Amino acid sequence: MFTVAAYSATAATEPLAKTTIERRALAADDVLIDITYCGVCHSDVSHARSEWREETYPLVPGHEITGIVAEVGSGVTRYAVGDRVGVGCFVGSCGTCANCTAGEAQYCLRGITLTYGSIDANGERTQGGYSERIVVREDYVLRIPDGLAMDVAAPLLCAGITTYWPLRHHGTGPGKKVAIVGLGGLGHVAVKLAAAMGAEVSVLSHSAAKQDDAKRLGAAHYFVTSDPAVLPSLENTFDLVINTVSAPIDLDALLSTLALGGALANVGAPGQSMSINAWSLLRNRRSYTGSLIGSIQDHQDMLDFCAEKGVGAEIELIPVDRINEAFDRLLASDVRYRFVIDMATLG
Ligand code: NAP
Ligand code: ZN
Repeated sequence: MFTVAAYSATAATEPLAKTTIERRALAADDVLIDITYCGVCHSDVSHARSEWREETYPLVPGHEITGIVAEVGSGVTRYAVGDRVGVGCFVGSCGTCANCTAGEAQYCLRGITLTYGSIDANGERTQGGYSERIVVREDYVLRIPDGLAMDVAAPLLCAGITTYWPLRHHGTGPGKKVAIVGLGGLGHVAVKLAAAMGAEVSVLSHSAAKQDDAKRLGAAHYFVTSDPAVLPSLENTFDLVINTVSAPIDLDALLSTLALGGALANVGAPGQSMSINAWSLLRNRRSYTGSLIGSIQDHQDMLDFCAEKGVGAEIELIPVDRINEAFDRLLASDVRYRFVIDMATLG
């Protein structure tokens, strides 16, 4: 075991504060990573504040990690000291259940080991990327391609993969009309990805404030959903709508915007239930789906695609001691468009 500096939540109602945590000594298949950047996901706030479940504290959030390999275990074959790598939302899975053997370890039937807030195979509590260094099994480490800067790559490890998966799964490409709901961390990457895939992209935002940015990110159209006339005017329009909103919203109104056979893919994760009238699906043979991040292979495909197309997140780089302010601004939809912590400031 060895000690590293970190920022942790000590209770659901307490601000994050500087601390130290223990990392395990390297096993044969482990990689030690010096963390350079860590994105701040809305899920970090939800976990830190026990919005989804009662968490165990202290809790070190952070699952959009980029860094440099500092040491490798004796059995590691794919990574070497000095490599540019990333870690996303999960760092373990059973490897033997039906979903793991189908290549979809993110849906491991025994439960994935989250990057923070889980108990790992050694019985130890995982702690995330708001820290100096992390030890991760090589199978859960991603390669950051050359040409992708480490700071703008960090948010791709969660925001990127979470939106890349439904875009790919639903056949996004030229001739498809795709709407992204919510222009936050996930939403802004989704706009860039959908535009890079060749789709005609619309943004559905609850305010007019981000219109110019949306166009710059690649959106052809921008609609302000707080105007009650807007969604009815878009009836039967989109092939795919991706909902990234962190709060409950009117799903029937969103479903009504789908063209024949269209899908509403939900990746936003409010703690509360949202209802759907069956007729919203029956009309136009619409579907409502959800997905959680993507497989490790999907992550690598997404990173390679982003490097090829020049897609990175739009970030606001912050020193780690401004993390509590960043959480508050995230909750107020006041982020352009992802906070990324410069981990060199942890010192
Ligand atoms: P974020 O940066 O806070 O963005 C959410 C956006 O939703 C906001 O920028 C805002 O966009 C819109 N919004 C917020 N409150 C709203 C309200 N009351 N009514 C309408 N719109 C509202 O959050 P994020 O990091 O992108 O995460 C988004 C959600 O995805 C969170 O619930 C997060 O936990 C979840 N998530 C899911 C997965 C997965 O695997 N499925 C992975 C990561 C995150 P506008 O101002 O443009 O309306
Ligand atoms: Zn996340």
